[in-house]
Amino acid sequence: MFRFLPLLLGGLMALPLPIQAGQPVKVASLSTVLTDLVKQVGGDRVQVSGLVKPGVDPHDFQPAPDDVKKVAQADLILASGLGMEGYLTKLETSSGGKGQWIEIGNKLNLPKFELEEDGAKVRDPHWFHSITAARQAVDVIREALSKLSPADKDYFTQRATAYQAKLDALEKWAKVQVASLPRDQRKLVTSHDAFQYFAREFGFTIYSIAGVSSQDQPSSKKVADLIRTIQAQKVKAVFFENIENPKVIAELTRETGAKVGGELYADGLGDNDSDASTYEGMIRHNITTVVDALK
Ligand SMILES: [Zn+2]
Repeated sequence: MFRFLPLLLGGLMALPLPIQAGQPVKVASLSTVLTDLVKQVGGDRVQVSGLVKPGVDPHDFQPAPDDVKKVAQADLILASGLGMEGYLTKLETSSGGKGQWIEIGNKLNLPKFELEEDGAKVRDPHWFHSITAARQAVDVIREALSKLSPADKDYFTQRATAYQAKLDALEKWAKVQVASLPRDQRKLVTSHDAFQYFAREFGFTIYSIAGVSSQDQPSSKKVADLIRTIQAQKVKAVFFENIENPKVIAELTRETGAKVGGELYADGLGDNDSDASTYEGMIRHNITTVVDALK
């Protein structure tokens, strides 16, 4: 009889580990937005490790050994998807865990926005600036948690429904704010190509000045182009998400009369001391900053 034990164990190990009644679902999240959303749905029946912290660039995150360990122990691993986490395959292999992986963005019904990365066209991964997309993400999370812990299905459903109502109210509020802005002033000039979903949802036109990053010293032609665009579009404010070049910013604002529009959260939530430490807070911050600057 003992002879069959290794075989039996081997067979069991291949299945997802069942979550015992009363035990929380262990979640490892690679997105600050998803860390918040899974807590909203999961309440005290989830134990969430947010591996990508606020302020860390999710495009360039490098998992530390401790992160790999948390992924290995997780029942559920959440990523933004659509190519945001270029390290995903490597992390999945090196963790060797048995948890379920979900690239949330890949499960959503989204407009097909692209952006340029190292000269190639790729899918735009910044879906979370659309509240419609966030609502779908909540559904995907609710379903996944309910499958992993069927005993808590009603609990997850109740919490997801309550949070969806919050998102509905958030969307109504955002549309009222944007409506206070004259239509021809709904122009978004940003340095990080991250707001296409935002622009579609709230009726803005994007004039991207991507390519002028903190590393680049933009050519004088590029700066001249920017100045012409800002002037031609009579844009009142410009948003610099990843330019830390004070000389270029000073030149642009001096030549065009546009002001610096304040900080937008482009890649995820702010830290606990900020007004953008939750998904709702991030949307409120970005809408308020954009509307106030363009008025
Ligand atoms: Zn980004």
